[in-house]
Amino acid sequence: MKTKTIAFDADDTLWINETIFTSTRAKFKAMIAKYVSDEFLDDKLYQTEKRNLCIFGYGIKGFTLSMIETALEITKEQISGRDIHQIMAFAKDMLVHPVELMAEVENTLKALKENYRLMVITKGDLFDQETKIARSGLADYFDLIEIVSEKDERTYRHILHKHNISAENFIMIGNSVKSDILPVCALGGKAIHVPFHETWTHEIVPEEQAAAYFYDTITSLAELPDLIKNTWS
Ligand SMILES: [Mg+2]
Repeated sequence: MKTKTIAFDADDTLWINETIFTSTRAKFKAMIAKYVSDEFLDDKLYQTEKRNLCIFGYGIKGFTLSMIETALEITKEQISGRDIHQIMAFAKDMLVHPVELMAEVENTLKALKENYRLMVITKGDLFDQETKIARSGLADYFDLIEIVSEKDERTYRHILHKHNISAENFIMIGNSVKSDILPVCALGGKAIHVPFHETWTHEIVPEEQAAAYFYDTITSLAELPDLIKNTWS
């Protein structure tokens, strides 16, 4: 009987994600440059995304609507139908982008699966996350999959309660200090940070906020089996 559960974030923890957004932002910026030169475009797009999060939620579809809204605002509604069409094409490219696994994911999951119950907790668009999990080829490693609209203390408390997991028997692994680490530490669970080289502005937390909690940081998932064996038995 496996009593301990290891939960993984998906985007930028199991597979690459932010890089796809970064390259789309660059294409969007190049398109808008035909209309206006705006060095603050990145921030304007982020402000629109942030404003819309509580309406559209996380994910590519909401991001796309925010690109369209930003383009309309910044070009004073002069953006062409052809370019709106191009933004739609950006979105479709993102949604069918091949799932590129992080290094050592499969070996790590294989090693951990023997002794622990494994789980995915990811936020975002339900359909997109479901197809990414299916396309990743990793689904069979996981006993539980939770796709949620926000990753805060309330969500984690609900998930632990739902699956009858106590906080001391739970570890969360992820790239976002804000979504994967701090809320779990606050509930008395353990968390391990695996930073990715790109972080969406929305997921960045002030250092002093992160310093209030203790958690381990590793550079690759390959370090995980040993770290867990040595610190959580
Ligand atoms: Mg992530």
